[in-house]
Amino acid sequence: MSTAHAHDPNCIFCKIAAGQIPSKKVHEDDQVFAFHDINPWAPVHFLLIPKTHIPSMAQVGPEQAPLLGHILSLIPKLALEQGCGPYPEGGYRIVINTGAQGGQEVHHLHVHVIGGPRPWKHG
Ligand code: AMP
Ligand code: ZN
Repeated sequence: MSTAHAHDPNCIFCKIAAGQIPSKKVHEDDQVFAFHDINPWAPVHFLLIPKTHIPSMAQVGPEQAPLLGHILSLIPKLALEQGCGPYPEGGYRIVINTGAQGGQEVHHLHVHVIGGPRPWKHG
């Protein structure tokens, strides 16, 4: 599709996924890279990104359903590994900021996973 490119040379998250900018890795496979947020809101705060450059949820359509499903299906295991408590007492928040009014600052699709004991810095 015209709005998605394998790699955007100016994109910070493309560079993180390619290992060109250091990050604290949580998970990596052929499609997905996950790493700790540099400015965490809570005791657990990591991001999952597709390795391919998709700017935001606004560019997602049915053809991305397997990729999005893959990303979401990784979260339960990774969240527990990173220190989120088990459901229902524990849990976490999953956030995908989209566009300026959605609070999106980095324009490479990313899923926030935020959790751990409260209070949190935000939210
Ligand atoms: P958003 O507002 O949804 O676009 O969130 C972007 C997130 O990326 C913020 O929570 C930032 O703290 C985080 N972030 C920005 N640069 C880096 C980086 N180099 N490593 C890890 N997280 C980052
Ligand atoms: Zn990118």
